[in-house]
Amino acid sequence: MTKIYDRVALIGLGLIAGSMSLAMRRAGLVGEVVGTARSEETRRVAAEIGLCDRVVETAAEAVRDADLVVLCVPVGAMGAVAAEIAPVLKPGATVTDVGSVKRDVIAQCAPHIPEGVHFVPAHPLAGTEHSGPRSGFAELFDNRYVLLTPEPGEDRAAIDRLRRLWEGCGANVEEMDADHHDLVLAVTSHTPHLIAYTMVGVADDLRRVTDSEVIKYSAAGFRDFTRIAASDPTMWRDVFLTNKDATLEILGRFTEELFALQRAIRTGDGEHLHAYFTRTRAIRRGIIEAGQDTDAPDFGRSKTPRRREDAAE
Ligand code: NAP
Repeated sequence: MTKIYDRVALIGLGLIAGSMSLAMRRAGLVGEVVGTARSEETRRVAAEIGLCDRVVETAAEAVRDADLVVLCVPVGAMGAVAAEIAPVLKPGATVTDVGSVKRDVIAQCAPHIPEGVHFVPAHPLAGTEHSGPRSGFAELFDNRYVLLTPEPGEDRAAIDRLRRLWEGCGANVEEMDADHHDLVLAVTSHTPHLIAYTMVGVADDLRRVTDSEVIKYSAAGFRDFTRIAASDPTMWRDVFLTNKDATLEILGRFTEELFALQRAIRTGDGEHLHAYFTRTRAIRRGIIEAGQDTDAPDFGRSKTPRRREDAAE
């Protein structure tokens, strides 16, 4: 594949940055990948395992002469990083990010992006419950979606160039308005995570009553919840703090539906329950047909561990 950027700087070296670096290098899309992270330990591990071509100490050092700068830190930290790198960004460079929330990241970063530098926010809908520099793998984005949410008027050539990079990493790329992105993700990722966190919390309370039976006899539903609820606490704290309105809207709808199901159970309305479950079953079929999951009948517990668990988006 042809080279798309001479130098890419990754700020933050966790699951997403590591996977990006491996995927970009697998396809020969970049001349050099320079990375940095705030802690010395993460930089040391990244250098030791060769996650990037070069690991440097500061964000300012990493972005110098970079054609593409990718912010791969928790959503709540994006603005501070953008402010730090702004004075050293190369004219004509593109800044992007991988944050799970888009409107708030734009509000944090856009004011710091200098004239002559492009800003194309992005969100890869791919992840696992693991984090840190050792958790990345090159196949993470294969056949997954990456949503680009540039503001109107952003440079078309810069957007298309970033699109080609993500496609080269194996992803399907689409463009979307940032507010719409946040609403869609509140439905497909953010609220489901909150529900998983809650269910595991409830079970943890119960565990004290049932003396660890919850762990010993954990069945399909609960085990899947525990995997999702093992996702990084900092990342998810930031997602809920920055996608507040959309998450609260979906949570309100969820609560209404839950009350309706609760009522159907109380009144013995089997017809309502059956019709509801029939409708939801069809959604699962749609996801499999779209190639976004397999219909392997193991709820993710095959003997060979799956690489991509989709615990996070
Ligand atoms: P990760 O594995 O936990 O890595 C996060 C990186 O950010 C680490 O290098 C960490 O540095 C650095 N960092 C943390 N707090 C920081 C701060 N306050 N200032 C500067 N750097 C900081 O995280 P990740 O899963 O790759 O997620 C990165 C971004 O991708 C997030 O915005 C997340 O919303 C988004 N995302 C995640 C997933 C997913 O499933 N995980 C999917 C799609 C998008 P140290 O290691 O030195 O502490």
